Amino acid sequence: MAETQQNAAKAYEFVDHTYDVVVVGAGGAGLRATLGLAEAGLRTACVTKVFPTRSHTVAAQGGISASLGNMGEDNWRWHMYDTVKGSDWLGDQDAIEYMVREAVPSIVELEHYGMPFSRTEDGKIYQRPFGGMTTRFGEGIAQRTCAAADRTGHAMLHTLYQQCLRAHAEFFIEYFAIDLIMENGECRGVVAWNLDDGTIHRFRAQKVILATGGYGRAYFSCTAAHTCTGDGGGMALRAGLYAQDLEFVQFHPTGIYGSGCLITEGVRGEGGYLTNSEGERFMERYAPSAKDLASRDVVSRAMTMEIRDGRGVGGENDHIHLHIEHLDPELINQRLPGIAESARIFAGVDVTREPIPVIPTCHYNMGGVPAVYTGDVVTFKDGDPNAPVPGLMAIGEAACVSVHGANRLGSNSLLDLVVFGRAAALHCQETVKPGATQAPLPADAGQNSLDRLDRTRHAKGDMRVAELRLEMQKTMQNHAAVFRTGESLAEGNRKMESLWTKRDDISVSDSSLIWNSDLVEALELDNLMFQSRVTIASAANREESRGAHAREDFPDRNDDQWMKHTMATCGQDGKVEFAYRPVNLEPLSDEVQSFPPKARVY
Ligand SMILES: Cc1cc2nc3c(=O)[nH]c(=O)nc-3n(C[C@H](O)[C@H](O)[C@H](O)COP(=O)(O)OP(=O)(O)OC[C@H]3O[C@@H](n4cnc5c(N)ncnc54)[C@H](O)[C@@H]3O)c2cc1C
Repeated sequence: MAETQQNAAKAYEFVDHTYDVVVVGAGGAGLRATLGLAEAGLRTACVTKVFPTRSHTVAAQGGISASLGNMGEDNWRWHMYDTVKGSDWLGDQDAIEYMVREAVPSIVELEHYGMPFSRTEDGKIYQRPFGGMTTRFGEGIAQRTCAAADRTGHAMLHTLYQQCLRAHAEFFIEYFAIDLIMENGECRGVVAWNLDDGTIHRFRAQKVILATGGYGRAYFSCTAAHTCTGDGGGMALRAGLYAQDLEFVQFHPTGIYGSGCLITEGVRGEGGYLTNSEGERFMERYAPSAKDLASRDVVSRAMTMEIRDGRGVGGENDHIHLHIEHLDPELINQRLPGIAESARIFAGVDVTREPIPVIPTCHYNMGGVPAVYTGDVVTFKDGDPNAPVPGLMAIGEAACVSVHGANRLGSNSLLDLVVFGRAAALHCQETVKPGATQAPLPADAGQNSLDRLDRTRHAKGDMRVAELRLEMQKTMQNHAAVFRTGESLAEGNRKMESLWTKRDDISVSDSSLIWNSDLVEALELDNLMFQSRVTIASAANREESRGAHAREDFPDRNDDQWMKHTMATCGQDGKVEFAYRPVNLEPLSDEVQSFPPKARVY
């Protein structure tokens, strides 16, 4: 069915495809959507730059939340309250109600698909307690997080991929999506490069679903895979669409310096402690009673302040030491064997003799492509802040629905993937006519992407992609991580502006089109640059503290002025412009009341 068209100007050839729906991404969100679409008989292509089961979802350990009540009382209203509170009242309550109510059937469905959940003695799905998950609106601790041992994401991804194969879903594996094809504000498809044979493909579809994951790699230290470069967000911004709430980024205090690999809080729970370059246990100063066991954001901020004040360790004074060498080696062996192994592999450290180098590490992007709970991407039109962008949907970490608002609760992301992956498939069943004739693409469709690809491929500037990426990552780490003031953000903004001009000065040494990782990284860097630019500008713009966005100079939440979503565009010149969307405090049904800021309704 694929036809080719010679592109004489550049001697590239387009291979053209037509599908009902194209899903970009094969993580938990993309696979769940693909499965629903394939089962519904819609002609669906799932395009993914990595093999599906290598998507970052595979790394999720902790679990997936749902108020099954298998191990104690639970209720979706309590889950909703926790999520609204966790979001610091920036989450949209219609979407949150949808997610927590659909959680239960979504988990049962995963179980029926064959997901190997851990079990209780009487055979029910095992559920563990997680931070912020409570019963009776904050009174008790809920056991709400369903787990498959410490490999929940792994189990989920493999289950979904196998089900997709059973449903005969079509995959385009190791195809790199470069750009959206837009026509008069409507999304008509996507251009992708087959990394394996160098061919360029145009996918025409009634709907494109972005499920490309987060952009953690904008930061120097990040727990996410190297592939988490926010390509969907980059594509949307380049197409002139909005990014929502990018200033909200979740950090974990102890990622291994250099690799970002997570070191669990359990290490400090067992007696581990942090020191600066003077050997001082500085947490005693910041949190005299909780010390090293203060909450994640307090520890992360204290570490950053030590580094900023010149008391970081290492050659560049840019990290902190985490000690467990004083603990009995037998205890380390019994309780922390995985940590000892990670420290050995990723930092070359023997934890029984020397400290582990650590740094606050980017863990999750709450912001993303603005969407509503059906999956439709939205924009402003005639004063309507929820006007759908025809033909375009977004789900998973790439999207901002917004169920996590200003901060995400642990185990709510895996839930977001399956609930909204499923919702997107259901919405397509209602709105897409299988096999409907599609208008021809405009004659120059995809030309912009080809020009960009060609320019990047032959770029012969003075700076290697890795150099510019590192400068961007360090700027983001130093100026837009956990410690934020107007001054440091303004300085970061200036640095990002100057880095923006260097985009035209990169050099790509390999010009082949087959397995050219240099070129892939250059394209990914561009996506990261767009989102970094918006993240830091949005953080400077939001003059309050809310959820993960904590400003030293504006320590309080300001609902009067700032209970609204940041909507930002980024031009080719790097100029960021803002608009705002109201937070939806209205739930979806009348079976629950809304949760107004701070107040407790039930
Ligand atoms: C270490 C770690 C542990 C975590 N633990 C938990 C947990 O216990 N519970 C929880 O709820 N959450 C957890 N999270 C968060 C959660 O795992 C992620 O938010 C979630 O997996 C993201 O899924 P996704 O489907 O949106 O994207 P991903 O799983 O990141 O997949 C993105 C997909 O998009 C494709 N793609 C990207 N760009 C392109 C392109 N240009 N062209 C083609 N394809 C493209 C990729 O190939 C990939 O298939 C954790 C995250 C990390 C990093």
